[in-house]
Amino acid sequence: MVTAGVKKAGSAEAEYITASFLVGCDGHRSIVRDLSGIKLTEEKEYPACFVMADFADDSGLGDEAHLFFSCHGSVESFPLPKGQRRWILQTDHLITPPNIELLTRDVQRRTGYDLEGSERFSESTFRTRRFVCQSYHSCRVALCGDAAHVMSPVGGQGMNTGFADAEFLAEALHRHFSNREGFHALFEEYDHFRRIAFKVAATRAERGMWMGTRRGKLASALRFLLVKALLSPIFKKSLPDYFAMLTIPCRSLRSIDNDHL
Ligand SMILES: Cc1cc2nc3c(=O)[nH]c(=O)nc-3n(C[C@H](O)[C@H](O)[C@H](O)COP(=O)(O)OP(=O)(O)OC[C@H]3O[C@@H](n4cnc5c(N)ncnc54)[C@H](O)[C@@H]3O)c2cc1C
Repeated sequence: MVTAGVKKAGSAEAEYITASFLVGCDGHRSIVRDLSGIKLTEEKEYPACFVMADFADDSGLGDEAHLFFSCHGSVESFPLPKGQRRWILQTDHLITPPNIELLTRDVQRRTGYDLEGSERFSESTFRTRRFVCQSYHSCRVALCGDAAHVMSPVGGQGMNTGFADAEFLAEALHRHFSNREGFHALFEEYDHFRRIAFKVAATRAERGMWMGTRRGKLASALRFLLVKALLSPIFKKSLPDYFAMLTIPCRSLRSIDNDHL
């Protein structure tokens, strides 16, 4: 059994809850992970930094996402619900608090889109990193989502990978409780399959970010040739699924052989 001490917000009193298992879904700074003695591996901080803000979408780009590569850095632009659009600008260093003047100016310079005067809803700045826990579980504690792994947000797989972790773990725990299957073996499978999915997604995200964030004229010219080659008929068919991460192995329970889970 596992006992966890929890405190309600604003309360000094801890309440103790005992359960058969504890799943730590407490994000990249996971206390559950630290208290379980689970270490991190493959730790990497990437040099790329970004400032990001959501604006009313006056771009005319509709539901299209656009990636702009330039010798000064990248700009990513994604449609959001409720008529909003997210703009993400690569910066030289981490700029806190987010500098909206710089974002607006450099988006205009790198893409030609003018955000001046568009209503703004939120802003933030971030840097990117990667790690995965040495083990997805320890005794009766399992980790899920960013508590277990973090990857570059390029490719949009952090949350998706976390959801797939949760799906797998829910099935594993269901099998334990309903069929009395041993949880050690189920947790080992959880670690095995979810680690494969993480590694492939994180490496693709890393490659995408590497390519998009190269700066300078030479790197920019080489990238132009590479992108042209990737858009050629040879790759054109497989590229969208690769880029949208639809071909990640073990990306959901359905893609795993029934002999396992
Ligand atoms: C700029 C950016 C863009 C991204 N875009 C995408 C995307 O397009 N698609 C995608 O799939 N992923 C994306 N991600 C990644 C995604 O945001 C994360 O992978 C996801 O939010 C992780 O979810 P989580 O629930 O594991 O952790 P979190 O979202 O960090 O949630 C953990 C929660 O636990 C709470 N918590 C922590 N400690 C305690 C405690 N001791 N007591 C009580 N509560 C606690 C925290 O307050 C938090 O609410 C992006 C990330 C960034 C930085």
